[in-house]
Amino acid sequence: SEKEPISLSKVINETLALLESSAKMGNIDIHNAIGETDAMVLGEAIRLEQVLINILRNALDAMTDQDKAAIWISAEQSQTRMSIIIRDNGPGFKKDELDRIFDPFFTTKEVGKGLGLGLSISSRIIQDFGGVLKAHNHEDGGAVFTIELLQASHG
Ligand code: ADP
Ligand code: MG
Repeated sequence: SEKEPISLSKVINETLALLESSAKMGNIDIHNAIGETDAMVLGEAIRLEQVLINILRNALDAMTDQDKAAIWISAEQSQTRMSIIIRDNGPGFKKDELDRIFDPFFTTKEVGKGLGLGLSISSRIIQDFGGVLKAHNHEDGGAVFTIELLQASHG
């Protein structure tokens, strides 16, 4: 597919603006450590936003009614790649669930609350960008998603 250079801080800030009221309503603190970086990744901004919204919405859903709920967003750079890391302090994944979360129609949500398509579509989008979407449980509890993308060369 067509890939264009995307500003990492811009796409994150735009996504967070869309989710701000939901996060406030759920009393969930979002800590964004990416800030004003000039890092550029390869993809398509609108589709990357769709992936970020899905991952962040899942985190908000997992932590409704939870005390001290928080999400941390950070970036990690390697030679040719740039990873966006999204961590929450919710319940994380049960062992048998983690192998299935990227399967189409896998959901643990009540009927009508989730189709179970978000992560399978998100994974496909990131693969389309030449990257990879991964998930694991944090050792201190909670879910961690890593969106690994190709860096766009500057200039
Ligand atoms: P849906 O949101 O419609 O359920 P997704 O594909 O977006 O579909 O997510 C699939 C499942 O992955 C969710 O139903 C949930 O069980 C699990 N999941 C995703 N994100 C998290 C998270 N942050 N914490 C715990 N479970 C999660
Ligand atoms: Mg979802």
